[in-house]
Amino acid sequence: MNAHTCASAAQILEEAKQFAAQEIRPLAGEIDAKGELPRSLIDKMGKRGYLAASWPAEFGGLGLDPVAYGLFTEQIGKACSNTRALLTVQTSLLGETMLRFGTEAQKRLWLPQVARAEKLGAFALSEPNVGSDAKSVQTTYRKEGGRYILNGSKKWISFAAIADFFVVTASDSSGQITSFIVEREREGVHTLPMAGMLGNRAVHIAEIRLDEVEVPAENVLGNVGGGFTYIVSTALDHGRYSIAWAGAAIAAEALEAMVTYARSRSQFGEKLHHFQLIKGMIGDAVTKVHAARSLCLAAGEMRRSVAADAIHETAIAKYFTSKVAVEVTNDTVQIHGGNGCRNDYPAERLFREAKVLEIIEGTSQIQQQVIAQYGLRKYAVKKQEAVQTKKEA
Ligand SMILES: Cc1cc2nc3c(=O)[nH]c(=O)nc-3n(C[C@H](O)[C@H](O)[C@H](O)COP(=O)(O)OP(=O)(O)OC[C@H]3O[C@@H](n4cnc5c(N)ncnc54)[C@H](O)[C@@H]3O)c2cc1C
Repeated sequence: MNAHTCASAAQILEEAKQFAAQEIRPLAGEIDAKGELPRSLIDKMGKRGYLAASWPAEFGGLGLDPVAYGLFTEQIGKACSNTRALLTVQTSLLGETMLRFGTEAQKRLWLPQVARAEKLGAFALSEPNVGSDAKSVQTTYRKEGGRYILNGSKKWISFAAIADFFVVTASDSSGQITSFIVEREREGVHTLPMAGMLGNRAVHIAEIRLDEVEVPAENVLGNVGGGFTYIVSTALDHGRYSIAWAGAAIAAEALEAMVTYARSRSQFGEKLHHFQLIKGMIGDAVTKVHAARSLCLAAGEMRRSVAADAIHETAIAKYFTSKVAVEVTNDTVQIHGGNGCRNDYPAERLFREAKVLEIIEGTSQIQQQVIAQYGLRKYAVKKQEAVQTKKEA
């Protein structure tokens, strides 16, 4: 239990806003420049139960419903995208998936420790040669007696450089995909930190090499063969919801930055915001931020009521808000002129962070395909209705 367990969602959100303003935003530039999340910040978030904001109290969570959790993600994401990524991975990708498919023993062992930030995890799906086509994972497993032996490489894995355990998705010789919980200290596990990132520079990204790594049967997450259908699909759905809010958050933060700058900078004897072309960018940004938030809220409401289309509304929100974040941060850099190209102002960092959102948790092209398939079903006018409409005409 933590101090927030009995607080209302409104109280938690208000405190998160204060926490983001006082403890996160002032560090955001330094976190990006140094390429690491300070352990002290992770610990403070753990003490408040922030890594488990959407989980039930029995696992150390704050019990926020999907809408409140989205608003919470927005507060943290506005202040610092790297810090928000901690929530995306620990709370959404790993936690929500383990809550749904983990055994009682797995949940009791890992979730309370992650909630308190005593242990961190990483979700290891992508590989050097496998990204969007995630079903083709080349990391292998084979069963020997009661144990599984894993071999292969994972790449681009957020928090892998500091995580205590990884959820690794692998395939057997017949193509059956299964996910395993692999503790860092197991023999044959190696991680290689990856520097030189465009954005998400402080999410401790690493490659993972697995060389004849043995895990017991109780480390299978979900059922054998359910690695893609259940584990990956669920994790990505929750991850997309988190990234949808991350996009809305970056766009909102960029909008504030552009307005502040346009009101303070003068050229040709006038403040920038008096120029029609600058007003055009601000008008577009306000509209896009409002639309992005509305889509996130709509997805959140559908998730709260467990609506059948929630998964699609989430993909739509993720696709749209990441696109909007890139557009709005692009204009924010533009309005800042030369100052937008240097790290004295947050504009360039927001621009870099926004671009990453179009790639993670399924690229924009993959979202377009998912959304198009949904649209082709949902908006197909049935034959009978089409005939009826023709007759009426
Ligand atoms: C900052 C960061 C953090 C990450 N964290 C994690 C993590 O924690 N865990 C993890 O497992 N992975 C992680 N990833 C990896 C990420 O999920 C992949 O980069 C992403 O899925 C895209 O895969 P790819 O990079 O291999 O691109 P590819 O799949 O090679 O795609 C390249 C381009 O081709 C397009 N494309 C691919 N297939 C199609 C198609 N069928 N139709 C049209 N266009 C297509 C893509 O949209 C993209 O534009 C992270 C990546 C980054 C950059």
